[in-house]
Amino acid sequence: MPVSLPNLPAPSGEPEPPSQLLRPCLDGCGRLTDHRRCPDCAGAWNAARDAARGTSSQRGYGTEWRTIRARILIRDGHRCHWCGRWAGTVDHVKAKADGGTDDDTNLVAACGPCNSSRGGTTAQLRRES
Ligand SMILES: [Zn+2]
Ligand SMILES: [Zn+2]
Repeated sequence: MPVSLPNLPAPSGEPEPPSQLLRPCLDGCGRLTDHRRCPDCAGAWNAARDAARGTSSQRGYGTEWRTIRARILIRDGHRCHWCGRWAGTVDHVKAKADGGTDDDTNLVAACGPCNSSRGGTTAQLRRES
């Protein structure tokens, strides 16, 4: 007749040994973690996932503007719309403050000095008027 051993009372107040909580990192880096991935791999994984789907900042102005800027600079041959020098930035023909859009038709290649001086001038005129 099988003898059923009495259930041993679970040890109370004893924290589980860490070895039972830790698992190998899901990415197979050899480290143990109590999460699915070790912090390093989790960071890399999150970065990769964000890059794949686009983070909020990448979906927003940042990447979109970089794409637009590159397109405009190529379209205008990196030539400043205002002075004809080499242009590395993109300027709004009609300032966004004046209702200008980010549409290609409202964007021109501009060199740094022209871009900043125009922006500064309009801002200054705006403040003085
Ligand atoms: Zn890892
Ligand atoms: Zn210029």
